[in-house]
Amino acid sequence: MDASATAELTSRFQARFGRPPEALTRAPGRVELLGNHTDYNLGLIMALAVDKTVRLAAAPRADREVQFVSTAFPETAHFSLDRIEPDPAVPWADYAKGILRLLQERGARLGGFDLLLDSSIPLGGGLSSSAAMLVGTALTVRKLYPYRLTSDGVGTAPARGARGVLPPLDAAEKMILAHVCQAAENHFVGVKCGLLDYIVSLFGRAAQVVLIDCLNLSVDWTPLAADMAVVICHSGVKHALVAGEYNERRALCEAAAAALGVRALRFVNPADLEAGRAKLTDRQYGCALHVVGENDRVERGADLLRRGDLASFGELLRQSHESSRLHFLNSCPELDVLVELAWSHPACIGARLTGGGFGGATLNLVRPAAVEDFRRHMAEGYARRCQRPLESWACQVVNGAN
Ligand code: ADP
Ligand code: MG
Repeated sequence: MDASATAELTSRFQARFGRPPEALTRAPGRVELLGNHTDYNLGLIMALAVDKTVRLAAAPRADREVQFVSTAFPETAHFSLDRIEPDPAVPWADYAKGILRLLQERGARLGGFDLLLDSSIPLGGGLSSSAAMLVGTALTVRKLYPYRLTSDGVGTAPARGARGVLPPLDAAEKMILAHVCQAAENHFVGVKCGLLDYIVSLFGRAAQVVLIDCLNLSVDWTPLAADMAVVICHSGVKHALVAGEYNERRALCEAAAAALGVRALRFVNPADLEAGRAKLTDRQYGCALHVVGENDRVERGADLLRRGDLASFGELLRQSHESSRLHFLNSCPELDVLVELAWSHPACIGARLTGGGFGGATLNLVRPAAVEDFRRHMAEGYARRCQRPLESWACQVVNGAN
């Protein structure tokens, strides 16, 4: 965490709780760069950890009480570690409660604490504020009450090094933590989400793309060219029935894989798909075409980034959006307008919808010198064509949570 953010968070914690914090943590939001709806098809994804961040400050208490404060909400969540229940009066705290409960169920020996959370990640803005909150809470608590996650529980807690600092999580433990966070969001909060968001928040690297293979959950990195800035544009639209649309697409992908005789669309390449087309309904084919195409684009995209061929990489983003629009049918008029507007700006390298679709946000790669002009152009065009205000964020690509 940079010095000014640390000082500000520390003084806010001090003002709220009357003592200094003993643990400080940051956890970044994330955005999908390429690889749309590939996760549950065991495919490939490129994502970025961005500098929209959750920051947390905490200090232990002698009892088993937790006071959890977020600067985004007026009410304090106050509960005992021995009675962790969802509370409809403070629903946002269910995320923190879920991870605390699961950590304890695995055997982590936690004690009470006071915690202040301050976040620059827009809630529901497509940057995964919920994942950053979960990851950040888990790492903050680890600093107060060290635990070591193993595949089936917890092992001997790590020893503090010089100045009381804990060793960071290794890759295997990060992956286990990602699973625990996912379980918290799935079971305690009741949102069915993939692993991706937690993986990126934990495994992100400054100025690098995180490449995730959802088949074996391996993670790799490749540099993002320096002369590319990331701008997220939020449509402000969330279409009704998103969950239903998502489930329907997922079922279509699964049915397509079954009809093609494979476990998941990951095992289908573009040639196989054409060869097996007659076995699929039109909608199954459209969905499979998108997913198979996305996997192929991620593979080719990684290669293009390594070679520094930005123009061709941007072209893959264009194809990705077109595939969403025409084949997977998870775009919407507002997202199409945003992507069209982006491409009409001379500094645009690439633009596409990002995340689930049916509303939400677009991802744009832009020449850095033109970022502010690009954002103005987008806001103006969006207001003119959709009569809606546009929220947009210029993002740096940053390290994962620590
Ligand atoms: P996103 O795409 O941003 O993850 P979600 O709907 O999954 O959107 O998660 C948003 C929810 O996460 C919020 O409604 C809230 O419950 C929780 N959350 C996110 N950021 C904060 C915050 N700063 N303070 C408290 N709760 C937060
Ligand atoms: Mg979320």
